[in-house]
Formats: sequence, structure tokens, C-alpha cells
Amino acid sequence: MDSLRIDQSWFVSEMVRVTTDMWRKGWDERNGGNVSLRLLPSDIEPYLASWTKTRIWPLTLPVAGLDGEYFLVTGTGAYFRNVEREPEENLGIIRVLPGGSAVEIMWGFGEKGGPTSEMPAHLSSHFACQKPGSRLKRVIMHCHATHVIALSYVLELTSANITRALWEASTECLVVFPDGIGIMDWMVPGTDSIGDATAALLAHHPMAVWPFHGVFATGHDLGEAFGLIETAEKAGELLVKVISMGGPRQTISTANLVDLARRFGVKPLPSAMALNGWRMAEKAGAEKPITRLEPALVGAALR
Ligand SMILES: [Zn+2]
Repeated sequence: MDSLRIDQSWFVSEMVRVTTDMWRKGWDERNGGNVSLRLLPSDIEPYLASWTKTRIWPLTLPVAGLDGEYFLVTGTGAYFRNVEREPEENLGIIRVLPGGSAVEIMWGFGEKGGPTSEMPAHLSSHFACQKPGSRLKRVIMHCHATHVIALSYVLELTSANITRALWEASTECLVVFPDGIGIMDWMVPGTDSIGDATAALLAHHPMAVWPFHGVFATGHDLGEAFGLIETAEKAGELLVKVISMGGPRQTISTANLVDLARRFGVKPLPSAMALNGWRMAEKAGAEKPITRLEPALVGAALR
């Protein structure tokens, strides 16, 4: 069996389509963004015999509970713009080795490449977002959704506030993500600690925001994760426009949100429902400068 067949598999085809769409949306400039899709034994079984030349790729953070699981993942340094033209260079299939401290590269990533540098965030999130007895969430998706990032500079950064702002920005939002969107402090990407923090948020929310950076979404399939980001990003764009026009003069009320939840049979995030509207962050000024000069830290960084 040759690699041509795997290029034609549903999972590689769908991954090519979604990464191309993400690039066209402007969410994945250069090598920005990464996606992982959990593969089932029935997906990979036809190809197993053809994967004779495999490589080991160590992980910085051992991941628990995923021994033997297979994932289709975007490559480290891969440009989403190039995935469609060269899927075998920019995508790959990995298997988590027993103990979770390394993965085996079964297919793809070119000669020497490997999975995304955000592997700790992806694998920890795959583990954390599964609820016992519920349908498997197979996808973790990260991208630089423009308007949601822009909002992280001006909205008060709590999960309840960001969720409430997006719910009020577009009627569909509460129905599409009743469990809201989680937010954390700014952190260095690619690290184990940002992986842990992301996984902790995705255990409770279908999406998480990395302020000044991007979003993470989960989904049962690629289309669902893409649709979540698309919905949040559309609301984000509306909100950016509304704030740019001087801010809302009327909005969707708490009573309206209650009616929506009732009509569509969803249980909205209590902390966001409890808010009376949403808040902008405190304005920067002499009292609260945007960036504090911390000479010791600057010195350390330049050494
Ligand atoms: Zn990123």
C-alpha cells in the first residue's frame, strides 16, 4: 500500500480542507496554528502494514492516559498555506508510546520534521476534554483568530466576561457555546505549563483564549471545532465594530439570554449569566501603564 492512498483517506482529505480554510480565513499566517485529530483503530488499520520506517520523537512533558493512541497532526513549522500542496511534508501521523514520554512518527512530516511544538497543549487537552461515558472529542484546534485576539486587548480578561461579551454580540453564540470560552493569563507558547493551563480550561469550556495570541477549540470532528472558532470570531468581529462605533447603545439582555437557553434547551455558563453585561478592561494610564519597565528582567533577557 503506498502513501497515495493515505493522501486520499477521509482524515487526510478533511485535515487538508480545514487547514486550507483556516488559512483563507486569515487565522493562520506563516506557521501559525496547529490541529490534531484523534484516529480510531478502524481509520488506521488499512495503512498499518505500510508504515515500516518509523521514527521516535520525544515529548517534553509525558502525557498520561493516551498510550497507543494515534493522531493526525500538523507539523512543527508547517505553513497552513502549503498543506494542500504538500500534505506529506506538513502533516503527519503519530502514535503515543507507552508511558507517554515520546511518540512514534508513523507517516508524514517530511524527512526530518515532527509534530507541532504545541504538542503538550494538544495531548493534555485531548486527555482533559474527555468526559467518561460521553462521545469522544477527537479534535484540538489552535489558530490566530484575528478579532478574538483584538478583543483580548480591551475586554476585562475573565472567562465570564469574555463569554458574556460574545454571547451579546451575536444571538447564535449562547446556543453554539453555552459552556462559554475560557481565558487564562498570557504565557509563553510551546511550554508544558501553557499546555497544562489550556487543558484545565478545555475540561470545562469548548474553547479557550490565549490572550494577545489566539484560540483553542475542541470538537467531536474537524467541522465542529472549525465552526466554534468561526462563530466566536464572527461575534468578535461584530464586537470590534460595535466598540469602534462608540460601544453598544442597546444589546441582548439577560432576560433574552434566558429565553434563548430555554428555547434551545442549553444550560448556559452560570458565571456569565450572573453578570449584568460585560466590561472593558480598566484603561491604561499613568496609574496603570500598559507595560511596566522592569530593568532586571530586561537585562536578564538581553544577557
Ligand atoms: Zn499560535
